[in-house]
Amino acid sequence: MTRMTPLLDRNEQFITAYTPGPLGPPTAQMVIVTCLDHRVDPAITLGLQLGEAPVIRNAGGRVTQAVIDDIAFLAFLAEQLFGGQIEADRLFEVAIIHHSQCGTGFLADPGFRRQDAEATGLDEAALEASAVADPHTTVKADVERLLNSPLRSPKVSVSGHVYDIATGRLTTTVDAMYS
Ligand SMILES: [Zn+2]
Repeated sequence: MTRMTPLLDRNEQFITAYTPGPLGPPTAQMVIVTCLDHRVDPAITLGLQLGEAPVIRNAGGRVTQAVIDDIAFLAFLAEQLFGGQIEADRLFEVAIIHHSQCGTGFLADPGFRRQDAEATGLDEAALEASAVADPHTTVKADVERLLNSPLRSPKVSVSGHVYDIATGRLTTTVDAMYS
């Protein structure tokens, strides 16, 4: 018996009704970027099903260079594999979702940030940049960052949203745009 045991039991339940899907374009034509917080899983909050949308998660749901690289790869893959199945000028929309009560918000505090940097060896300026203290502000900044990245395909649109932990509601802050 390990901590994984109950989850393996759930997987046994899961496979009783499982049918594998074919490799195809994500049926929602969306890619989600959001926080790794276990209270904001988009499979639950947005009802995402298997095959609907790739989900990229990190601390805060920030548009880091690694996220930009992954989105560039997904756009290349979509065009190569499914170019004939999707509209020629549109591959997918990237929805960036930040949330209230984000744990990265503690990094806005200089003392907390310094302690973190000393304990982990992470760069203090990078920690400060990753903080989501006001999700409405940071999500707008990250939409801009992705839109302005030279690695973003012009066939990929970007939108911004805030998830409220208190109510479970997702609010759109920036409508989808291509530039
Ligand atoms: Zn968070």
